Amino acid sequence: MSEPLGLFGGTFDPVHFGHLRLAEEAIGHLGLGGVRWIPAGQPPHRGTPQVTGAQRLAMVQGATAGNACFSVDASEVEAPAPSYTVHTLERLRVELGSERSLVLLVGADAFAGLTTWHRWSDIFSLAHVAVSHRPGFPIEPDSLPAELSGIFNARRLADASGLQTAPGGRIATFAMTQLAISATQIRQLLSNGRSARYLLPDSVLDYIQTHPLYRNP
Ligand code: ATP
Repeated sequence: MSEPLGLFGGTFDPVHFGHLRLAEEAIGHLGLGGVRWIPAGQPPHRGTPQVTGAQRLAMVQGATAGNACFSVDASEVEAPAPSYTVHTLERLRVELGSERSLVLLVGADAFAGLTTWHRWSDIFSLAHVAVSHRPGFPIEPDSLPAELSGIFNARRLADASGLQTAPGGRIATFAMTQLAISATQIRQLLSNGRSARYLLPDSVLDYIQTHPLYRNP
């Protein structure tokens, strides 16, 4: 059986080192064969991104270039309809078949909101979910919504090696280097004319400065 494939969706408005460390550490902690980055088109849970899909995609491509374990899936970023994760997973099942282990990577903040996602409980019939720690967002059954807490307890793996033994259905958690970086913080710094250096790759910062992006709040 091939190694599990990590799937990392996000707005990436812009991509930053919190995202990159999450993907990099997920490979090691979860035994993934690689991570496919999937920039969202119109995200259903938030306002319109501040820059175009093509610009967010270009920044993700620049940030991930040179890492042979990373690939970028550009098929949703320009879609006019909302990007629902369950539809992404259904599309990938058609492409990759029913046997491949797929692991949806999410930060603890995103996981806590899972029950608000379109057809959220169907996600477990399509993929595993791996939750990374994020500063300020504990992954405790007691701090999750009741419905999710029950699912979390029932599906949680004690050991990430269980991700290899089924195509989906389980929940793993992993501790990553804690980086209290957010795209919101970066957008605010840039719109105030302040430095965002060392929060995101220089290639992304160069792209932001060249185009120029995020100048207005
Ligand atoms: P924003 O501030 O605009 O909401 P964000 O920085 O949270 O953006 P997203 O593109 O919304 O970035 O996040 C994509 C995924 O990355 C989500 O699952 C989120 O939980 C995770 N993530 C983002 N930043 C971090 C971080 N610093 N540490 C761990 N996970 C993170």
